[in-house]
Amino acid sequence: MGINILWDLQAPQGIELPVIRMIAMILGKDPVLVRYPFLIDGYDRNRDQHDAQQILNRMQDTLTRRYDIDGPLLLVTSCDLYTNGCNFVFGLARPVCGVGIVSTARLGNDYYGRVPDDTDLIDRTAKEGAHEIGHLLGLEHCENPECVMFRPKTLDELDRKKKTLCPACREALASLDRR
Ligand SMILES: [Zn+2]
Ligand SMILES: [Zn+2]
Repeated sequence: MGINILWDLQAPQGIELPVIRMIAMILGKDPVLVRYPFLIDGYDRNRDQHDAQQILNRMQDTLTRRYDIDGPLLLVTSCDLYTNGCNFVFGLARPVCGVGIVSTARLGNDYYGRVPDDTDLIDRTAKEGAHEIGHLLGLEHCENPECVMFRPKTLDELDRKKKTLCPACREALASLDRR
């Protein structure tokens, strides 16, 4: 069962392969890039944000009905995301359906008034992409602030994470694979 990464046409172009390579390194799996026309739902004009749950709904529909996608599917988008109860989220996963999403909207330095840097953007997109795929593979949140499965609330917390799973999460993933 392969891991699929759907890269939205609006999302930053040219960093797909480095991001996917880094996700592969973090998880020890080989995700593949897939391209489908995909409509992003859930725009809220008052917030100028997208409801991540609505995007996941359509992904679930797409995954199960329209396309023959086998295995977990992660969407990378540049749309800024929120969910019920959160002003924003870097990403969101729905493990029972095998669909997840990560947003680059707040992962670039420019959002914070800093000098843009593709390396930072690649690192952060890979960490949060691997985090959401981790959920799709059965991992929970981790208390270790350096682990990819830690849930960051700020950019600094995200940057503090290393590009690895902690030993406990790595072991958990290995035992999920053995099931
Ligand atoms: Zn999470
Ligand atoms: Zn961990």
